[in-house]
Amino acid sequence: MINNGKLIFLGTGSSDGIPRVSCLTDPNSNCKVCNDAQNPDSKNRRRNTSVAIKSFDKNGQSRNIIIDAGKTFWESAIKFFPKNEIREISDLIITHAHADAIGGIDYLRDWTNFVQNTVKINLRDQDLESIKKVYFYLFENGKVKTKGPIPKIQFNIIDEKSFKIGDLNITPIPVFHGNQYISFGYKFGKIAYISDVSEIPKSSENMLEDLDILIIDALRPEPAYFSHFTYNQALEVIRKFKPKKSFFTDIMCAVDHDETNYDLSKLLDTEGIDIQLAYDGMTIDFNY
Ligand SMILES: [Zn+2]
Ligand SMILES: [Zn+2]
Repeated sequence: MINNGKLIFLGTGSSDGIPRVSCLTDPNSNCKVCNDAQNPDSKNRRRNTSVAIKSFDKNGQSRNIIIDAGKTFWESAIKFFPKNEIREISDLIITHAHADAIGGIDYLRDWTNFVQNTVKINLRDQDLESIKKVYFYLFENGKVKTKGPIPKIQFNIIDEKSFKIGDLNITPIPVFHGNQYISFGYKFGKIAYISDVSEIPKSSENMLEDLDILIIDALRPEPAYFSHFTYNQALEVIRKFKPKKSFFTDIMCAVDHDETNYDLSKLLDTEGIDIQLAYDGMTIDFNY
């Protein structure tokens, strides 16, 4: 029997979030994407890049796994958790320790106060060290605190090796995210999720073979940016590894959802490449 999964995009935007406050408050700005994104249901409204995975194992057990809880985690959760029946969080997985990936961890206190005893966070040792600095009040003498008005967290250190959550096998995909800083993408089933990337090292390329779905960082068409892919850089990867379907995420306000999707759809006719922009709330069913 095949296991089933459902992926829900909780956020598809760059760190500032869309609409950007600076666009809305600029008297000379005519940013139509940010104007449109003021509508809470607009596909241009983009929270920090994050996904939820609902996994349903062979024995019938279901789990809610979240990749990254950034600065807009609360806004994503109130909008998308009730309608996707996400209450307990089985595991949080961290890609790297920038604020748009870990800035929402304090909200987990609502879970550990009212839903479950602890939340398990899977992350690299270096990201735990960053969290110790940012969320110093979660620790005492270097150890995790288990009492007090704080989220009760269990940290599980991961490295480049695969790990399992229920029946779901998850393999880290180390990628560069600006200069020599490494962020983790993750592969599960035949899906690869790479939210923050400026270069894919040769040693990670084998993880991109034979994919059904590639979800990849594509900040904007141009100009180049030091820590994120542009469209052409993301396209280069798609042309090379030929996933059956690709979704762009971590998108800036230079990109209008409908117009850009229309442009991307032409690649299906010209090159047989299937790419869409992901949007907050979009869901994908998959098997694993
Ligand atoms: Zn804007
Ligand atoms: Zn980052």
